[in-house]
Amino acid sequence: MKFADVILPLPLENSYTYRIPEDMEKAVTPGCRVIVHFGKKRYYTAIVMAVHDKEPLSSFETKDIYALLDASPVLRRPQLRFWKWISSYYLCKLGDVYKAALPSGLKLESETSVIYNEDYEADTPLRPNEQSVLDAFGGALKLTVSELEKKTGLRNVVPVVASLMSRGAVEVSEELKRGFVPKTRTFIRLVETFYDEEKLQEVFNELKRAKKQELLLVSFLDLSHTLNPVLRKELSKKELLERSGFTSNVLDGLLKRGVLECYEKEVGRLQISVCRLLPLLPLSAAQEKAYGDIHDVFKTKEVCLLHGVTSSGKTEVYIHLIDEVLKLGRQVLYLLPEIAITTQITERLAKLFGNRLLVYHSKFSDNERVEVWNKLLHGNEPMLVLGVRSSLFLPFKDLGLIIVDEEHENTYKQQDPAPRYHARNAAIVLAGMHGAKTLLGSATPSIDSYFNATTGKYGLVELSTRYGDVLMPEIIPVDIKELKRKKIMKDTLFSPLLVTKINDALAVGEQVILFQNRRGFAPMIECKSCGWVPHCVNCDVSLTYHKIHNRLVCHYCGYAIQLPPACPECKEADLRMMGFGTEKVEEEIATLFPVAKVERLDFDTARTRTAYERIISDFEQGKTQILIGTQMLSKGLDFGNVSVVGILNADSLMNFPDFRAHERAFQLMVQVSGRAGRRDKRGTVILQTSQPEHPIIRMVQHFAYKEMVGLQLSERSMFRYPPYYRLIVLVLRSRNESVLSEMSSMYAGKLRLHLGERVLGPVTPPVTRVQTLHIKKIILKIEIAAAIAPVREILETVYAEMMQYPAFKQLLVHYDVDPA
Ligand code: ADP
Ligand code: ZN
Ligand code: ZN
Repeated sequence: MKFADVILPLPLENSYTYRIPEDMEKAVTPGCRVIVHFGKKRYYTAIVMAVHDKEPLSSFETKDIYALLDASPVLRRPQLRFWKWISSYYLCKLGDVYKAALPSGLKLESETSVIYNEDYEADTPLRPNEQSVLDAFGGALKLTVSELEKKTGLRNVVPVVASLMSRGAVEVSEELKRGFVPKTRTFIRLVETFYDEEKLQEVFNELKRAKKQELLLVSFLDLSHTLNPVLRKELSKKELLERSGFTSNVLDGLLKRGVLECYEKEVGRLQISVCRLLPLLPLSAAQEKAYGDIHDVFKTKEVCLLHGVTSSGKTEVYIHLIDEVLKLGRQVLYLLPEIAITTQITERLAKLFGNRLLVYHSKFSDNERVEVWNKLLHGNEPMLVLGVRSSLFLPFKDLGLIIVDEEHENTYKQQDPAPRYHARNAAIVLAGMHGAKTLLGSATPSIDSYFNATTGKYGLVELSTRYGDVLMPEIIPVDIKELKRKKIMKDTLFSPLLVTKINDALAVGEQVILFQNRRGFAPMIECKSCGWVPHCVNCDVSLTYHKIHNRLVCHYCGYAIQLPPACPECKEADLRMMGFGTEKVEEEIATLFPVAKVERLDFDTARTRTAYERIISDFEQGKTQILIGTQMLSKGLDFGNVSVVGILNADSLMNFPDFRAHERAFQLMVQVSGRAGRRDKRGTVILQTSQPEHPIIRMVQHFAYKEMVGLQLSERSMFRYPPYYRLIVLVLRSRNESVLSEMSSMYAGKLRLHLGERVLGPVTPPVTRVQTLHIKKIILKIEIAAAIAPVREILETVYAEMMQYPAFKQLLVHYDVDPA
């Protein structure tokens, strides 16, 4: 008899054993999806991890696998190894990794869409449940699993859907193998010979007597930019006819003459239209040197850190490396910290790599994501994948290189839910599993990576001049405290110098970026007469005022109320705004520069991918002159015409209660500054602060990266922080404050018995309650050289001891390893 260990999408145990029914014995292999029964009448899609013949030793009866979903595995073998590493290092369950790793399109869950197959005819009678599921469609072609559950009244529709799937009566939208019909479209292009200008001129001479054809050809050249190698794009027949206004008869004339030709092309949803790929740009001498140095590093090291100042042309160096690895027939993963910056880079890469480029991130639809997944699973071509952290989980076959761009970004760390993994660090491990190299790139490397690169663990390559020898921007600190004291800056967010610089830039048609790291209008309001401050009912934070909707909003849980006309405590109508966010900046800009076209880029305006893309592209094309935003602006965007950057208030960045606050403030300010003067002219940055003498301000002003690192490292070694110590944080949450406090003290006490003074706390974080849960943290500081396995054992033992106390069950507990 055969058994399968499977992973369920539940954070309970790592794996469960099921019996394989005889008729499935041959077909069930590791990496396949199966449907299994678990708990009270629930069915789940599980992943087979291993097949063996050891009957489990358990008092419970071993259940049978209910159904097999795949004829061949949906995972490649190394993936499961990677999942296991994530779960053991980040102290979470395999089920958590499974949930994060598989696109929901491959999980039969309540939100999965089920598609009705109209052509289906039953060859054997349907069972009543199957019939009622099919009836539930009632004309609709697509319903989700949960909709089907509602309509049929069945408690558990998953196994029924699975059996209908095996009959071919329905498809799950992600089941592309069977259901997916590639879409093709007709495109038009100029016949190769006529790229020659003289030859093309001859054609025009010939067309003198066929006016319509002549005009259509002009439209074609215009719309497709065929003659401009940079702008050139693919043009479909449909678009050409629609936009030129001619009929297909006219087009036929040109096709018959052999001037234009048509071709069919599969248009995957991800296809990026490029017809002729551009050649790579030649590298500058400095880039060439960096490129060679990276090669040298890779001879002896697995990881290389490329420290290149903003606009030094790191991307171009990556591109040359990618090209080389693809030519060797291996795959490349190009990681970016956020979806936000994929737009610009996608365009750049698509022009060079065409359909060897795959893009993968969470704002894509399920279908699109499953399509990428399947391309990698079934395809054999060397591919470049551009994606955010979740793309680490794709079914790579043979990675040759992983690039982690903007490696310092803390968004590489997943906060919630588990697995709380750090994608940069996990990438290095994944690369190791494939025998691939990892290249980390940043203008402001994380202290951790820089430490590793200067102590011999990684190699270090530097690129210290901007491409085209453009100067680094001039950074001018402005003391706003002084200006306020002298009453020069009254009721305004803008220093006179910043206003002048903006004026100058706008006058010569240049663009401006303004940075303020808070969204909304005012982060806090306060009653002038009694001091009342509105707080969130669920969280221990004050509410942010958003003027657009005249509402007070909690940025932690979304709770919102209308702004009260008067103070609810003392009834005075004297509410005062404290601090300011991007909305207020926008409002003041509108009065100061009424003719300028202004846009705001923050979480409120860029909720969707299209909204974000439009804001960026309007700014790129110069439709917008001033762009105001939060840290979304700092992320590797490349605009050519920005000459002035204003940082409206640096203070809040520096005074943050976190051991990484200064490192992060430095990175953020240098990155934002880096958006200025990227082409030929030197840019200017106005840095407003009330602490102009703060060491961080001076270091930003002189791009004194190494000095910043030196200072931080000495503090970190003194206070036992990374990179000298590894942090593991136990996060404990509960509705019941006193139970939380009692249990977490006891917990810390027990941990201390094993780990001594490596245990700190319990401490109360700055925000003590979020979404009605009170929070305590126990912090472990473990020597970096210490093995992690014994620590994990201690943590498991102590956790089991705590579980003996009934009150402990009122707590939610999770680990955060290497918090960022
Ligand atoms: P970074 O990633 O280091 O901030 P980018 O790669 O975005 O810098 O390069 C900055 C600008 O310089 C871009 O507009 C890019 O197109 C241009 N550039 C960089 N390298 C080259 C090159 N070798 N040839 C032509 N243009 C280049
Ligand atoms: Zn009041
Ligand atoms: Zn809240």
